[in-house]
Amino acid sequence: MIRIEAVSKWYGEFQVLTDIDLSVRQGERIVICGPSGSGKSTLIRCINRLETVQQGRIVVDGIELTAGGRNVDSVRAEVGMVFQQFNLFPHLTILENCTLAPMRVRGMGREEAEAVAMKYLTRVRIPEQARKYPSQLSGGQQQRVAIARALCMTPKIMLFDEPTSALDPEMVKEVLDTMIGLADDGMTMLCVTHEMGFARSVADRVIFMADGRILEQAPPAQFFSQPQHEKTRSFLGQIL
Ligand code: ATP
Ligand code: MG
Repeated sequence: MIRIEAVSKWYGEFQVLTDIDLSVRQGERIVICGPSGSGKSTLIRCINRLETVQQGRIVVDGIELTAGGRNVDSVRAEVGMVFQQFNLFPHLTILENCTLAPMRVRGMGREEAEAVAMKYLTRVRIPEQARKYPSQLSGGQQQRVAIARALCMTPKIMLFDEPTSALDPEMVKEVLDTMIGLADDGMTMLCVTHEMGFARSVADRVIFMADGRILEQAPPAQFFSQPQHEKTRSFLGQIL
């Protein structure tokens, strides 16, 4: 589903990603963790081409990303992304946030787009909020809208970048539960998160990044019980 081969990336002189190799199968759930500044966000932003790379290749569902950039739209249509700061459009209602891309990008009619939006808002359990504006919702509700909005484009892959880090503790669970529901439905997911309970119960593989490299990766049981690298051990020591 996703193939990342020998990818390196620089911001000016600074090398942010070094020789990244990563393959993700359809339906696989990957959790990416690692210290601040290790390149986690950069890596997943490369997968939907919010960032470009200088070396290596990235292929998403058969679409080669690194050549030219002509494929950006087709890739974005297949890859949904949820950010730490929900990034909802503040001047649009919840429903309008969800119908915008399907109408603009997919050319869907309003009626159908609204039906699709209500289906996913129901799935994240906030259909009653559809006519409100983002500022009228709690953080957890806004993040669930962000997930529903991404799902409205029927993506094949969902990317999450610390989706619960900006939330008050009591709202973390409702967002994680939504993500668990997606995983149960077989969605291919890459999640940058430090929610290790989520990693343990949902991830097929946990990837640890440090200094722009993938230092180790393993199924959660092994990752947590037998971390191989000193850096992984010290990281887990800090967050567990
Ligand atoms: P965090 O856990 O804090 O979110 P991260 O692992 O997601 O960290 P990135 O955001 O990918 O890390 O950043 C990796 C490195 O690249 C950091 O040192 C950061 O300062 C640098 N960086 C990120 N974006 C840019 C940019 N647009 N220009 C220059 N440097 C950047
Ligand atoms: Mg980040």
